[in-house]
Amino acid sequence: MGIPIVLSSSIDTSIFSCFLTLFYIYLKEKLSSAQRECVTMYMKKAKLLCPKCSSHMEKVEYEGVKIERCKKCKGIWFDMMEKDELKAKHGSESVDSGDKDVGKESDKKKNVNCPKCLTPMIRKADIEQKHIVYEYCNSCHGAFFDAGEFKDFKEETILDYIKKIFIKK
Ligand SMILES: [Zn+2]
Ligand SMILES: [Zn+2]
Repeated sequence: MGIPIVLSSSIDTSIFSCFLTLFYIYLKEKLSSAQRECVTMYMKKAKLLCPKCSSHMEKVEYEGVKIERCKKCKGIWFDMMEKDELKAKHGSESVDSGDKDVGKESDKKKNVNCPKCLTPMIRKADIEQKHIVYEYCNSCHGAFFDAGEFKDFKEETILDYIKKIFIKK
């Protein structure tokens, strides 16, 4: 069982990285492969802003899986497949260190854009546990969980388990 490690990043230029993202989306076709590589590399280093409260996010690593967690509301951003990868790791619920009441409040916020590619995200219910509704980006396939949602996602309750057995066709 691992411990979550908070990684620090030296680059902190959120407005610039927002601009860069837009620039990247619109002019992607026109860039040479070397330029594209350069922009992609910069974007990977740039810090993300929380899609819910616009605060800075920090990188947290848990047994090799790197996710981004909001410093303020403690919501968690997962790149494609990372939520399932992390769910499979023993003890990984410890990365969800936020207050679930804050998460419930932040869950009410609608019309949020993807922090990575700025596409408007959709609300998606988990297939196994329908009461967990998170923000999902159809474009880059990332997902945002409010504080407490990942813990919930990780722990399938006995009730969820029973429901699953009875609902199964
Ligand atoms: Zn936040
Ligand atoms: Zn996206």
